[in-house]
Amino acid sequence: MTTEVASNSTLAQKSDYIVAKFGGTSVANFEAMSRCSEIIVADKNVRVVAVSASAGVTNHLVALCQSDITEPQREHHIQGVLAIQQAIVDELSLDADLAIGFNETLKAFQQHAREITNTAKHQDELLSFGERLSSYLFAQVLRLKGLNADRFDVRRVLKTDSQFSKATPDVASTADAAKAHLIPLLEEQVIVTQGFIGSDEFGQTTTLGRGGSDYSAALLAEAINAKSVHIWTDVVGIFSTDPRLCAKATPIARLSFDEAAEMATFGAKVLHPATILPASRSHINVFVGSSREPERGGTWIEREKSQHSGIRAVTQRKNQILLTLKSPEMLLASGFLARVFSILSNFNISVDLVTTSEISVAITLDNAPNASRPELDQACLEQLAEFCHVSVESNLTLVALIGSEIQLRQQEVNLMDVLKAFNIRLICHGASKHNLCFLVEQDESDNVVKAIHSHLLEG
Ligand code: ASP
Ligand code: MG
Repeated sequence: MTTEVASNSTLAQKSDYIVAKFGGTSVANFEAMSRCSEIIVADKNVRVVAVSASAGVTNHLVALCQSDITEPQREHHIQGVLAIQQAIVDELSLDADLAIGFNETLKAFQQHAREITNTAKHQDELLSFGERLSSYLFAQVLRLKGLNADRFDVRRVLKTDSQFSKATPDVASTADAAKAHLIPLLEEQVIVTQGFIGSDEFGQTTTLGRGGSDYSAALLAEAINAKSVHIWTDVVGIFSTDPRLCAKATPIARLSFDEAAEMATFGAKVLHPATILPASRSHINVFVGSSREPERGGTWIEREKSQHSGIRAVTQRKNQILLTLKSPEMLLASGFLARVFSILSNFNISVDLVTTSEISVAITLDNAPNASRPELDQACLEQLAEFCHVSVESNLTLVALIGSEIQLRQQEVNLMDVLKAFNIRLICHGASKHNLCFLVEQDESDNVVKAIHSHLLEG
């Protein structure tokens, strides 16, 4: 028997509003923006539009943040940003109000990009220009379609702490600010605003981390009590695995919040993992579809429990580290795990999978380039080595099977039969009914994913 302990939450009355988010490729140029504007025109409930920076812009901005950048490189990246924006402006004639804001922002960008300070605060300010610029242009594109659209600086409402580059949103302050400044506008207007950025209590610009615009959209949806958030990207939803790897991968029409959260966390790149948090907490449905082919539908992520049991998708995340800690003295003693985790937490290291035995613990850490904490500090290893034997293995991939009520014997195929051709390093299953994860050698992982997909998810 299982007893569930639910967390308490009171839900605000929902409006019919929808928040739509358009990713970098959807706002890459004038043509793409025009296509997206049709989606908004077709659905009157879309009242808040959160845009990413035009494709390529954030990468230029990230490059401008590097401390070892040379002057010619700096100029190259500044010109790169200007060229992308200019190509769009050439197709538009900006109304006076938008033109003033856009030109000022463009000037401020060039100033910031040429300033040589490398504080995290300065970097977040610099990174924010992509979304700040694209939102002016997109507001104009909507006006060209006859919509009463205006651009809105999201930093007035999306409030965060002061952790630059990965700020944590302040949900209560964001809701208050949205009530005061944003909701009153929505009766009359379609508001175009920025994903990815926010501001702290001192008004300093912060960012939510790479790919954070999806998260912004869900936070905004929560703040205005929207009924759903539509994430428009360049794929027709979330697939059973990466379609570039398996040609037979298929889009999934419906996912539960739990399944979607696991998929985003374990490597499906379509959605920023944090997006599900506000959506599931505030019962907001999430749709993921392609702005190129909106008629093809996409994936709905909903609160309802999944109707399908079993494996629905397989994902992988490369560049994982396996840390094995062994301490014979800990036999029958207590406190070993507590000590290990407190050290990892002091170093801000987030752990993914854990398996334990009486005297050892194996832990996986994400070492991907965009991981929140990419380097495993020497200092951390030294502290661990004070009381246990530490071994570190790298070049591993975490493969995750995602679904509901996953069992080792799946349909007529025994998962273990599929996996016996490969060297499996660690298996984790049980903490959640929605995933089964294991580590494999990185250079084998594509083949592992293909084998699983072909045996368990095709036909
Ligand atoms: N422009 C930011 C990035 O490229 C945020 C986003 O698009 O979600 O990471
Ligand atoms: Mg994205």
